[in-house]
Amino acid sequence: MNKNLLIIIMINLCIPLFSKNICGEKILFNGNIFVEATRSIENKAISIKDQRINYIGELDEFKICKEEKVDLKKGYVFPGFVDAHAHLKGVGYRQLKLDLSNTSSKEEMLQRVKVYNDKNQNMQIIFGEGWIEKNWSDKTFPTRFDLDEINSDIPIILERADGHAFLVNSKALTLSNIDLVTKNPSGGEIERLSDGRANGILIDTAKNLVQQLIPAQTIEDEKNAFALGAKIYQQRGWTGMHDADSLFVEKIRIFENLDLDLKIHFSLNQEDYEHCIKGRRSIKIYADGAIGSRGAALFENYEDKDSKGLIIYDQNEVRQLLKNLYERDCQIQIHAIGDRGNSMTLDLYQEFLEGTNKDLRWRIEHAQNVTEKDQQRFKKYNVIASMQPSHAIGDLHFAKDRLGLERLDYAYAWKSFIEKGVVIVGGSDAPVEFGDPLQEYYAAVTRKDLTGFHDEGWNLQQALSREEALDIFTKWPAYAIFQEEDLGTIEVGKYADFSVFDKNILTIDNMDILDTKVVMTIINGEVVYTHE
Ligand SMILES: [Zn+2]
Repeated sequence: MNKNLLIIIMINLCIPLFSKNICGEKILFNGNIFVEATRSIENKAISIKDQRINYIGELDEFKICKEEKVDLKKGYVFPGFVDAHAHLKGVGYRQLKLDLSNTSSKEEMLQRVKVYNDKNQNMQIIFGEGWIEKNWSDKTFPTRFDLDEINSDIPIILERADGHAFLVNSKALTLSNIDLVTKNPSGGEIERLSDGRANGILIDTAKNLVQQLIPAQTIEDEKNAFALGAKIYQQRGWTGMHDADSLFVEKIRIFENLDLDLKIHFSLNQEDYEHCIKGRRSIKIYADGAIGSRGAALFENYEDKDSKGLIIYDQNEVRQLLKNLYERDCQIQIHAIGDRGNSMTLDLYQEFLEGTNKDLRWRIEHAQNVTEKDQQRFKKYNVIASMQPSHAIGDLHFAKDRLGLERLDYAYAWKSFIEKGVVIVGGSDAPVEFGDPLQEYYAAVTRKDLTGFHDEGWNLQQALSREEALDIFTKWPAYAIFQEEDLGTIEVGKYADFSVFDKNILTIDNMDILDTKVVMTIINGEVVYTHE
């Protein structure tokens, strides 16, 4: 046989074999891919088959493939970003309701109420939330009279961002029988003008006096809010999230059945612990409160209050719960913020994790203030620290007042944890924070607020490298739900979940991260969002 003929025959034999291996159902091309093998950005094409990455190679290699081609528009393709701590239903509700967050003046806030009022003529009530005077030059609260000017025929109730106060109009006060003689409920205050009339601000338990005016949420409302939250998350570039709402199993099943295009890991209420499923549903409980409201449990008094905060749970109850979970191989996530809250939680974990050969990956949510010694215990017992970069940029405005400089040294100590080999997963805690992957990434690598500001004693050395910050939103959230074989990096065999941005967030200037746009969100190889 002629030598050339032999070669031709061989090539013909090889092509079908070869193309069979690399051709999938879809080829993504014209993108800069973050390839796990080299951990660098490379100009490659990706083939997808059965929702997973089938082959990563040069576009030339796919010439023979006839499959659908998706143009990545020169975008930068990263493993799908996952928000490891957020409240999806709340994200949706924030959009459905009148959102008063991020206003720069009282006038702007009132203007938003007015626009909403004009747009929604058939409302029985206006309920809004998220206002706070923090960034206003005039920090006095608005009053009932400001709202009466907008609408005095239906009740208006506007919740302050921290949830500790309502601003209401006169109609809401009248319908709730709050007048000159109404007494303050215990644990609350009806703020009054000098002539004794209520001014429209209701503090803490006084909020309950108007609560009956707010229509209860139906299950349909909840489903709508949850689905909307998922949609918003796709648009922002997330491919998955760990929901921290501590829901009853019945509710989780309803949400699971919505079959949304977002990979959601749920947290269960402890009463339903028997329904935990490793990698799909963990249990969530609370150890303490938050630093802002001085509820986080500290070893020593707050710098600005004669109090050490509060432990919420009963240790014996938690011990019993952990025993049940340990026996079932289940995962738990405990909210713990103060150094004492974290320490007590680790004490309890230690009772079960010391010397065990089980791979349980128990988590602590927030882990904001953790002593050096306790950081080491995270490592020793393989406890995952679930931390929120944007909390640090929000809290930097008050944490020093609450904790004092000395305790700041081990607060929001991302880098210290990572240097000890602790697994950190990154989250936003939306809707407390905004819930945007690029904002979170910016916060993680800069440790400054969105204007570039940081305070004295803010330990910038705790900021993460670009690569570490990428990992806490991709690789480690996959590990935290036992899916590191399937998710978290761009490798053959893993699910094709990608966040595609228009800039290389590994190298651009800090401030440019905030200007970066989502080009596409891809889940299981399906483009679920494209920027128009
Ligand atoms: Zn939360």
